[in-house]
Amino acid sequence: HAKNKGRNRFKVFTPKMFERTIRRMSLENDMRRAIFREEYFLEFQPIVTLHDSRLTGFEALVRWKHPDRGLVGPAEFIPMAEESGLIIDLGHWVLEEACRTMVAWQKTHPAARNLTMSVNISGKQFSQSDLVDCIKGVLKKTGMPARNLKLEITETMIMQDAKSSIEKLNRLRKLGITFSIDDFGTGYSSMSYLQQFPIESLKIDFSFIRNMKTSQENVEIVKIIIQLAHSLGLDVVAEGVESEWHQATLAKLRCEFGQGFYFAQPLSAYRAEQAICAPQQALAAHSIAQPPLL
Ligand code: C2E
Ligand code: MG
Ligand code: MG
Ligand code: MG
Repeated sequence: HAKNKGRNRFKVFTPKMFERTIRRMSLENDMRRAIFREEYFLEFQPIVTLHDSRLTGFEALVRWKHPDRGLVGPAEFIPMAEESGLIIDLGHWVLEEACRTMVAWQKTHPAARNLTMSVNISGKQFSQSDLVDCIKGVLKKTGMPARNLKLEITETMIMQDAKSSIEKLNRLRKLGITFSIDDFGTGYSSMSYLQQFPIESLKIDFSFIRNMKTSQENVEIVKIIIQLAHSLGLDVVAEGVESEWHQATLAKLRCEFGQGFYFAQPLSAYRAEQAICAPQQALAAHSIAQPPLL
């Protein structure tokens, strides 16, 4: 549509946009070799109970350490990987690495046997026809118990082809894998379908939680999502718990779990392991009321 802007058309493509396009093209190119150059790594963010601050598991979050550009965030490269199709290989690597890490923890720390590892699944990955076999293969290869694996999917993803999604989810659920709906409230979903999906949790998007303190409207939205979840027999994870106020308010609303900077940032594998065996030292002191249950 640049051409419709008449004499302004030369202004449309600014140097800044040019720079951004170059960065994007070069990152896309570099992503292809990043897997075998071992430039990706995972961080693990604790998920804790809101009323008594016990560690229940982690969400695995991928990072890319670019050799020249430094750390690139997933908000930038995941959409690129989606578009180019690289997300299939990357998603597979993330799943395997997350499972391998959890199994290693479980071998040395009995407390880890009751923790879940949540892994984000992208839209393209989810719509792969061999998704179920692929995940089965990873469980087998790593020795990961299915009951410790939780997959994060989005409303939009499963609504794409609801019938085949339900079938896929049911097959994975039968293996013992559980599901949460990520970024709940931001996507497209249908209440009538929601109850047909074999899911365990809703994750309330960070944007609603962040604005709770300044907007009563957001408190109401969060309240309604929690009620909806509970009436469907689902538990609720709040993202972006950044303060004591958030924890107290969400706990009062009977939200079961929280994740956010108030408890812990995404941690290196090493620090996450410390959080398992000595949570009172590794996590913010206030976040620990008692050691994790064995
Ligand atoms: P998400 O799955 O909703 O993950 C939560 C994001 O919120 C993470 O950002 C996390 O670092 C951030 N976060 C957690 N607590 C707080 C808080 O208290 N305050 C603030 N400001 N932020 C908080 P991150 O790691 O940058 O990831 C962004 C998104 O990238 C993720 O959102 C997810 O959609 C995607 N992503 C990350 N790793 C993967 C992956 O392995 N595979 C796929 N498909 N997507 C991934
Ligand atoms: Mg997530
Ligand atoms: Mg999320
Ligand atoms: Mg989110």
